[in-house]
Amino acid sequence: MKMTDSGFEIFKLDFAAPWGKIYLSLYSHGSVLLPMMAYIYICYWKRGNFHCHPIREKLEAFVTQAEPSWHLIAVNISNEFRRNDTLVIRLGTTGKLVITNSWLIKVSLYDVNFALQRDASLTCVDSDVHHISPEGAQNVQYLTIQVKSSTPRVEGFSFRLNAEDFHTINDRLQHNITILPHVSFHKSRIQHFLEVFRTFITSNPTHLMEEDPELCIGCMSIAAEVKLVRHCVEEGGENPCGSCQCRPMWCMDCMGKWFALRQDQNVPHLWMSSKCTCPMCRVTFCLLDVCPVRKIGNAG
Ligand SMILES: [Zn+2]
Ligand SMILES: [Zn+2]
Ligand SMILES: [Zn+2]
Repeated sequence: MKMTDSGFEIFKLDFAAPWGKIYLSLYSHGSVLLPMMAYIYICYWKRGNFHCHPIREKLEAFVTQAEPSWHLIAVNISNEFRRNDTLVIRLGTTGKLVITNSWLIKVSLYDVNFALQRDASLTCVDSDVHHISPEGAQNVQYLTIQVKSSTPRVEGFSFRLNAEDFHTINDRLQHNITILPHVSFHKSRIQHFLEVFRTFITSNPTHLMEEDPELCIGCMSIAAEVKLVRHCVEEGGENPCGSCQCRPMWCMDCMGKWFALRQDQNVPHLWMSSKCTCPMCRVTFCLLDVCPVRKIGNAG
């Protein structure tokens, strides 16, 4: 590459020179021959019922008496993939990890790897933290996870995963991911805040309830844990905090995430003294107004 008057020039071919004609001939023949070779290769695979095709070879390793052909395995994967509980996680810019009920599939630019969930053991072997990433300017941690299959002839594979997706995939696997002792998880700013938020809220006055709290409408996995009750006293001036009449609907983590995501991300040291609005009625509250809930009669 060299600099010219019209900018950078990568190749300069002089077709009038003797070598120029050879280059031109190679280019023109290559542009016809390469697509022809690809077509012939595809025809060769098709005539032989995809014998020697890399994906067929990988699927044949899973052939059993119950599923005696790779066709049946491919149909099984297709059917599971179409279900609405299939989890697809992006791995970098070109790869994907697909988790169905019984399969774990890594799709990369030039390759596909399969593992049966019941036979696969996943190990988190390494991690690296980057201060800038395609997802944003915050610190991001990537984990290297190795997949080994106990099915004979099935090749192991590995993938790099954003640490924030770790729990999402771990919850969908039949066996938990083993984490090697030297791998430590880097906590994101939000995770740090949630720990402090939880400790702070626990020391606020408890709100007693007569009935059991409903499921948190944010995560739908645990019961609601907090209610907004104004307890703060603003010294001098008007207190913007209002009285929220909503019933307890959020767990601590979901309320903490709601609070953190509505703060100025450039000044995290001010979050604890900041205010936010109720997710339902939009009444302003501060952290002193977030009270843990407890059913009357329950110890705690
Ligand atoms: Zn929740
Ligand atoms: Zn409210
Ligand atoms: Zn308040």
